[in-house]
Amino acid sequence: MSARIPNSKEFWITPSGIFKGELTLDDLVKLDLEGNVVEGFGRPSIEWPVHAAIYRVRPDVNAVVHAHNPVTLGLALAGISLRPITVEAVMVLRRIEVVPFAFPGTDQLAKLVAEKAALGTRALILQNHGIIAMGANLYEAEAVAETLEEVAMAQFVAMVLGREPPVIPEREVELYYKLYRLG
Ligand SMILES: [Zn+2]
Repeated sequence: MSARIPNSKEFWITPSGIFKGELTLDDLVKLDLEGNVVEGFGRPSIEWPVHAAIYRVRPDVNAVVHAHNPVTLGLALAGISLRPITVEAVMVLRRIEVVPFAFPGTDQLAKLVAEKAALGTRALILQNHGIIAMGANLYEAEAVAETLEEVAMAQFVAMVLGREPPVIPEREVELYYKLYRLG
């Protein structure tokens, strides 16, 4: 994960090769948007180019969470897209984009992610890999990451039971977005 102070050209990111459940403040590394270490001693996450690329194209994003959500990924691998089947899917996730495969840590992955992130989405699925969740702060980004998996699980359960889950009607979704001025 990473986060920055709004409008900052630098961000804090978790280190590579350290158990994330026992991180301390000293483990975090501060980078500028070109990947230069500004503060800290650890090795930044190998996915730093992806995080930096998102911050470059999305001034509204101040936190990025990357995870390997198994159910979300399973549906994506089966070629099934997540649908607006729950209120949270509509409110929290909004539009989900799928990023074609590129190896972790590569500039190619960062480029592909930036292209999709620039469309204004908060949720990306990295094909054959995992997910990226973005938010105005860490709580929002984490909510997106968890909601992705929750919606994927609900859709999966319905499909395992042989049913096509009914979606929230498009008209209702549009009204909701208009009401809250969401894009
Ligand atoms: Zn990963």
